[in-house]
Amino acid sequence: MSEHSGARTTARELRAPRGARVMHVDWADGHLGVLPHDVLRGFCPCAHCQGHQGPIRWHAGGNLELASLEEVGNYAVRLEWADGHGTGLYSFRYLRELCACPSCDTRPLEERRYSR
Ligand SMILES: [Zn+2]
Ligand SMILES: [Zn+2]
Repeated sequence: MSEHSGARTTARELRAPRGARVMHVDWADGHLGVLPHDVLRGFCPCAHCQGHQGPIRWHAGGNLELASLEEVGNYAVRLEWADGHGTGLYSFRYLRELCACPSCDTRPLEERRYSR
């Protein structure tokens, strides 16, 4: 068993209908994850968006239309946006941290920091 195997960070289903502005995640522990596209795009963890050091922080701007979503090795998902930006690899652990539902994280986006 790997560190990724906990129910809290196991995604049963990712739902992002075309045209939607929020992705929903059904987590194995029963939690419904809410991930607005501005959260996903603004916290894109790739080096292009975040540089090479320091915590991950929110960056405004960027296209918010999700072009594709590709699960990677059962532990992460790669998101590609309609402007062609597609280097962000979001581990399920990270997606769970990003959850913007009222019982997870209601801090303003500008104040959130995530470790890499
Ligand atoms: Zn990026
Ligand atoms: Zn939540």
